[in-house]
Amino acid sequence: MNYLKAILRKDNSAKIHELKKLIEIGEKLNKDTRPDIKKLEVLEKRNHKTSKNSSKKQTNTINYKYSIKSVYTQDDSIIVNFNTKISKNYIKFFELKRDNLHKDVFDIKGNFKDAQPTVLKINNIKKITIGQFKPKVLRIVLANEKNLNTSYTIKEKQLIINIRNLNNKRKVIAKKTVTNKNSNNYIDKNNKIRTINTKDNSIVIEFNKNFTKKDLSYSTYKNNGNYEDVFDLKGKFKYTKPIKLSIDGIKKITVSSKDKNTTRIRISNRKDLKVYYILNKRKLTIKISGISKNSKKVTTSTLPYSNFKSKTIVIDAGHGANDPGAVGPNKRYEKVVTLKIAKYLYSILKQRGHKVYLTRSTDTFIKVGKRTDLALKKNADVFISIHANSVPKKDAAKVSGIETYYLSPAKTARAKRVAAKENRSDIRKMSNSNTEAFLSSLNSPKLRYSRLLSIDVQREMLAEVRTKHKVKDKGSRPGPFWVLLDAPQASVLVEVGYISHPIESRRLYTSSYQKLLARGMANGIDAYFEFKARFD
Ligand SMILES: [Zn+2]
Repeated sequence: MNYLKAILRKDNSAKIHELKKLIEIGEKLNKDTRPDIKKLEVLEKRNHKTSKNSSKKQTNTINYKYSIKSVYTQDDSIIVNFNTKISKNYIKFFELKRDNLHKDVFDIKGNFKDAQPTVLKINNIKKITIGQFKPKVLRIVLANEKNLNTSYTIKEKQLIINIRNLNNKRKVIAKKTVTNKNSNNYIDKNNKIRTINTKDNSIVIEFNKNFTKKDLSYSTYKNNGNYEDVFDLKGKFKYTKPIKLSIDGIKKITVSSKDKNTTRIRISNRKDLKVYYILNKRKLTIKISGISKNSKKVTTSTLPYSNFKSKTIVIDAGHGANDPGAVGPNKRYEKVVTLKIAKYLYSILKQRGHKVYLTRSTDTFIKVGKRTDLALKKNADVFISIHANSVPKKDAAKVSGIETYYLSPAKTARAKRVAAKENRSDIRKMSNSNTEAFLSSLNSPKLRYSRLLSIDVQREMLAEVRTKHKVKDKGSRPGPFWVLLDAPQASVLVEVGYISHPIESRRLYTSSYQKLLARGMANGIDAYFEFKARFD
């Protein structure tokens, strides 16, 4: 719609902007976006030519009606000037990897007149785009084959995005680190800074003389996947060899001297921390919140996105007890496989900080209705039901692979067949026409979300298992599953493979393969949350 409006206005930049949105959504829905991408390339070339002539000194527009005054490049930096003072929460930063390109995305609070979408240029960076992502969010994307080393600094009304090591090889500075847990020993009576200590979740700096805001500079960086909060304090401190401070749950805190008259405190962590400071004449307190206390554990299982939020997930292991589900060669039972995977998925999601519930944790039978009751009761964001598929013996050796279903009236014979099997343990009876009517009346956001979730789960599961095995992708598809009908929000049913297939069923019974599937599902679920957070 907006794309059409842009065409009618003959507004090249707006066209590019809308096309990009279309492509992003199209890719998500597995649509063929190639024609749109071609169109985009043509438009961008045209746009680049015209903007080259009009602004040799990059984009440098001043417009006081907008909250962002100007955006331009300078050496290896992008400078964003605002009309007002800004703070750290004006900037949201995250990384994406798509089509072999690393993307550093900066979402900046504010609107900018020329953001439709201007292409900025810095040598050795493949592509920089800036666009008004939302009415009040300006998005700058740096795309490159190699992961860029970006950082940003906030100075009053200015945001400086700096890209390090573009031309030069990284200088390796050997640092001698003296670890000292009891930093209370360090008292410097002669220089400006008297002591630097940690207390609970704070760093406390005491001065021998009055210290003002002017003596302090605070920046935030992203460095090799770590978030860094850096405080530069004007003044000498005798004990900067450098020294290490420690706060439980934070990866690293160092104190060093930046130059002759500047002392630097660097807080470095995997997850973005909330850092703020209180200055009181001779005392500066840097308070840190958002520390995950078990971060030592968390850092080993990397989170798939930076703006992580805890969600509620209900995992349903299909079948149980007298209902074995499908039975494969050598008496391999579906109910055994589903429970094992469900438990692995449970512990992965739990470790990542989500609230997780299992419909069953033992070999028991639970009615279909009761499975979704739990999801409703817990107000779950996602419901995932785990199953394994099967075909009659004569086809067993031929049919294998993974597929993910989301609830919808059955469209294909195959979906109907699978649904009939999985629905068997449901005691509810409904005439065919009734079923169709009921299913069609499902609320559409739930359907849309479920579809997106199924795409993410399917893709990530395959990515995981394919690191070790050759596995068929049977896609993400609609199907009329009772178990999904009463489930809240996004719900999917995963068929992790064919238990009737001689090789796949053997694989499904090994814990290493079960773990791969579980990790893929968890990645898919988190990818869905990350995507949803960006578009909601
Ligand atoms: Zn099943």
